[in-house]
Amino acid sequence: MDDVVVVGAGPTGLTAATELARRGVRVRVLDGAAGPHRGSRGKGLQPRTLELLDAMGVADRLVSLGEFELPIRRHGPDGAVEDVVLNRAEPDPTTPWARSLIIPQWRTEQVLRERLAEEGVEVEYGRRVAGLTQDDDGVTVTPEDDGTLRASWVVGADGGTSTVRHELGIGFLGETHDEVRLLLGDVELDGLDRDHWHMWSAPGPLVGTGALYFALCPLPATPTWQVQIAHSDPAVVADEPVLRELVDALGPRIRVRRVVTSGTWRLNVRMVDDYRVGRVFLAGDAAHVHSPAGGQGMNTGISDAVNLGWKLAAVVGGRADETLLDTYTGERLPVAAGVLGLSSELIGRQFWQRTPQQVRDTAGFGTTYRGGPLAALDEGDGPRPGDRAPNAPLVVDGTPTDLFAVRRAADFTVLAFGGAARVAPELPGTVQVLDADALAADGVLREAYGAVDGEVVVIRPDGYVWSRCAPRS
Ligand SMILES: Cc1cc2nc3c(=O)[nH]c(=O)nc-3n(C[C@H](O)[C@H](O)[C@H](O)COP(=O)(O)OP(=O)(O)OC[C@H]3O[C@@H](n4cnc5c(N)ncnc54)[C@H](O)[C@@H]3O)c2cc1C
Repeated sequence: MDDVVVVGAGPTGLTAATELARRGVRVRVLDGAAGPHRGSRGKGLQPRTLELLDAMGVADRLVSLGEFELPIRRHGPDGAVEDVVLNRAEPDPTTPWARSLIIPQWRTEQVLRERLAEEGVEVEYGRRVAGLTQDDDGVTVTPEDDGTLRASWVVGADGGTSTVRHELGIGFLGETHDEVRLLLGDVELDGLDRDHWHMWSAPGPLVGTGALYFALCPLPATPTWQVQIAHSDPAVVADEPVLRELVDALGPRIRVRRVVTSGTWRLNVRMVDDYRVGRVFLAGDAAHVHSPAGGQGMNTGISDAVNLGWKLAAVVGGRADETLLDTYTGERLPVAAGVLGLSSELIGRQFWQRTPQQVRDTAGFGTTYRGGPLAALDEGDGPRPGDRAPNAPLVVDGTPTDLFAVRRAADFTVLAFGGAARVAPELPGTVQVLDADALAADGVLREAYGAVDGEVVVIRPDGYVWSRCAPRS
């Protein structure tokens, strides 16, 4: 019997499996596909997602393979061009990444798979799950190929058409918008510079089919481009000749050399009303789907997986009561609802029409669990329980580092300010207590947490504030 079976090896399933495996949970990952996906789909890793992945130690690798927010080059119908920089936010000592990282989804998945392999777990491809049943002691998973698997818990990260969701009988409430379609592809081409994300708004080559926009984004560290053509014509077939013809028509010098992938996508805006039935959880697209406008889908799935990972590992490891698992739905359902709202607001709105607030919201920094099941409402300045825990420079044994890096050493990190570390009790190995003032490289840590002498701030394994406690004044 395994501890956990993860169904689906997209970004959500790979993150969930890694979060579990690195905490000592015995995990297996089954995926119905013959091998990894080749398409670039979710090519924007939001800065908050990079912070979450940094705790697994993969952010630097991802950053080395991507590029931060390329400027958008708008091509007008008369051939005029205008450059737009959507997000001018700069990193600072509390926020190492401020803009979204352009990197194809297949590459993000590759980095996650490699990280998972370091924990000794390989994805079992060609193992489509056809059904599951659960009882008081565990879950029986039935792959299509042969046999059955038994696990204490199952994570259904099997995408928008989720078999796990169907098996659980959880509804997928929302709508399919037939009038919003995307023709998608990854291509190699000549005739455009790779320093910009090129966009043409209607009227364009799909005039007559209600074209909304036409976008070509160079995919860093690859020879390919992602093509997206938004339209509303059900008669347009997303095959190689159509894609080639449409892209070639954009300009006399633009020529497609090779179509690597092509496909079509229709807009569904749907979500579940529960993320859990008994011993089975849903995460990622299996629980919520929406427009790619705002680049939220993969990011929300990864955040689901990070939220669930430490909680499930704590329960499997006997360090927490099963009631902790109820907080997964309680914390993530409102976030999914917010993401559906944001991405719906952005549909049909050109990138350069976004408000500064929408740009900030897409970065993921606004996500908070304040007032949720683990963070009773605690108004006030500075990060309060449920808020993101910011980074700060530290010096450990004479070596400059930062809080995000030091946090990797334990699940919970306690920041003890102004001598509070001297009175910290003995804590188990998943908790580390830092003497904040002794380690702080400068005043940033204290300022970022708005802490006073004697105050203790506890940071959760997923990088949110768990609690804080100041001496009575
Ligand atoms: C054009 C486009 C652009 C996008 N841009 C962005 C973006 O910029 N940023 C962003 O965050 N998101 C973006 N997205 C959305 C993003 O691609 C998805 O949200 C993301 O893939 C969801 O990840 P997931 O792991 O939950 O599901 P998936 O990636 O769908 O993975 C599910 C996995 O489960 C497997 N599977 C399915 N059924 C079974 C079964 N029965 N048994 C076993 N395995 C099974 C599948 O083979 C697959 O590998 C975009 C999507 C599109 C189409």
